[in-house]
Amino acid sequence: IVKKRRVDRVLKEFHDTLIVPTPKLKELCGEMLNEVQAGLRGDKSSLLMLPSMVDILPDGNEKGDVYAVDIGGTNFRVLHLRLSDERGQVAHTDLRDFTIPEEMYSCHINELFDLLAVRTVEFIRDVRRDSPSLEKPLVGFCFSFPVEQTGLASGNLIKLTKKFENAGAVGADPVLQLAEALERKGMPAHVSVLLNDAVGTFAGGRYMDEDIMLGIILGTGTNACYLEKRSNIRKGRLPDLSHSEGMLINTEWAGFVSSNLPLLEEDRTLDWHSVNVGEAVYEKMVSGLYMGEVARHILITLIERGRLLGGKVPDAMREPWSLETRFMAGMHTDNTLLLSEVSAAMYCLYGVGPWEMTYFERRQVQEVCRLVCLRSARLIAMGIAALLKQMGRDGSEGPAPRTAIVMDGGVATHYPAHKDMDPESRLL
Ligand code: ADP
Repeated sequence: IVKKRRVDRVLKEFHDTLIVPTPKLKELCGEMLNEVQAGLRGDKSSLLMLPSMVDILPDGNEKGDVYAVDIGGTNFRVLHLRLSDERGQVAHTDLRDFTIPEEMYSCHINELFDLLAVRTVEFIRDVRRDSPSLEKPLVGFCFSFPVEQTGLASGNLIKLTKKFENAGAVGADPVLQLAEALERKGMPAHVSVLLNDAVGTFAGGRYMDEDIMLGIILGTGTNACYLEKRSNIRKGRLPDLSHSEGMLINTEWAGFVSSNLPLLEEDRTLDWHSVNVGEAVYEKMVSGLYMGEVARHILITLIERGRLLGGKVPDAMREPWSLETRFMAGMHTDNTLLLSEVSAAMYCLYGVGPWEMTYFERRQVQEVCRLVCLRSARLIAMGIAALLKQMGRDGSEGPAPRTAIVMDGGVATHYPAHKDMDPESRLL
């Protein structure tokens, strides 16, 4: 019992730092809103607020065959869509998913694009075996890194993020690089649009629901995009927007930073071991690449300071990135009577046998996972609230019109408990 109390005391400290009270979260929301507005003006801001050049959105009446190449963080995908004659319906989808080999994170960018091109060409050839066509394929390029767009299908990469550090990428136009790689691999294509995943998610959502106002990615990393009025965008050379609702803004909110963010010593350790030290502070607190790693650091502290598991940190637990978020999610959502999934994960990952963990210890491990998820969910909710305020859709000036949000990414789709966290807290 003494042992349990000691661990619980350390856990309580973590709880109090990670889960900031709602009024404090509202303050953070105000700070995010200020950063949004500074970024739109072109002033210094931790949110890049990049105009996407997308000012005309799908309305569900689009038709025909389109391809997409999507590179994000952990995977890349090639897709073929046949848009139906029926409004908002996709008649047919082909999809191929590839894991990005580890060596591709640091090779020269041309090698990475060559690999993308080889897989894309194979895919398009396979699709076209069933429905032959001699036309140049129409390819949309979903490229989830910050790009200064110079047009709908051109731009310059500002920086690489997540685990990527390829030479030859920064400053170059990814559309040209993809088009040239496709040509090198024998399939000239028309790369018609360059988007990031948040903008792509938004546009795809609009194909099905005209009230989509916000697109959010929560996968390896995080990002958000929303529809901004022309009069509020005061930077970049914009096309004539007089006939459109406005333009999608790629917020690049991953970089949001504030001294009020609930940061732990463990977050600083994680940051120190990341490829982009000091950057993407918000992202490192919320997204799939990092949540498991934060939980791993907290577990180590709990073992060392709280003397969980007898105070002995298993060697394997010292291995950076060894607790992937999907395992953390599995432990968090284990609802078996004896928390046998928690103990199975601890055994498989760290060799801690079920007999070496009491039920209370399993619960404490589970609580770590829950807290990391809850912090992430509350911070994402804070970001959503800030963007709704920016759009005047927070209900503060009377009932807001129906506002739909589309969310995608591995955490959004495979970690349903994340979405269901903390339904009582009211930020708006
Ligand atoms: P990307 O962001 O690279 O395009 P995804 O959107 O598929 O790729 O997201 C991959 C991320 O999703 C991984 O970093 C992983 O942490 C997270 N993820 C995958 N499966 C799960 C799961 N079951 N629970 C929680 N997170 C998951």
